[in-house]
Amino acid sequence: MAYWIAEPCVDVKDLACVEVCPVDCIHPTDGAGVPLIFIDPDECIDCGACEPECPVEAIFAEEDLPEEWNGYAEINTEFFKIDREDPAAVKTFLEKMLTAGNFEGEAADKVKKFIEEEL
Ligand code: SF4
Ligand code: SF4
Repeated sequence: MAYWIAEPCVDVKDLACVEVCPVDCIHPTDGAGVPLIFIDPDECIDCGACEPECPVEAIFAEEDLPEEWNGYAEINTEFFKIDREDPAAVKTFLEKMLTAGNFEGEAADKVKKFIEEEL
């Protein structure tokens, strides 16, 4: 099992979850360089401490992830396979997720704006 961060975090990323995670597995810890942040499934110990801290209810245990946000499990996992320090790699990662339809509607618009302005 794992916990995942989904669409409501896009453009919010207030880092409340980062502050309570006992194993520091939510990245980037300063929220910089990405439009939302991610949980490393290999490091997460499934303690659930982050879930109630999120002001926009963006964090879900695997079995509770709403079906329309299933793609966020992939997004969280994929993020830890790229060179996260490389803006070009992050840009390619986000564009791939847009193409895959994992960001849609208002979230997609925010991600596109982030890519244009920040990467
Ligand atoms: S607490 Fe929620 S909105 Fe804030 S960074 Fe974590 S997942 Fe994103
Ligand atoms: S469930 Fe626990 S270990 Fe996993 S990301 Fe949340 S606070 Fe960190």
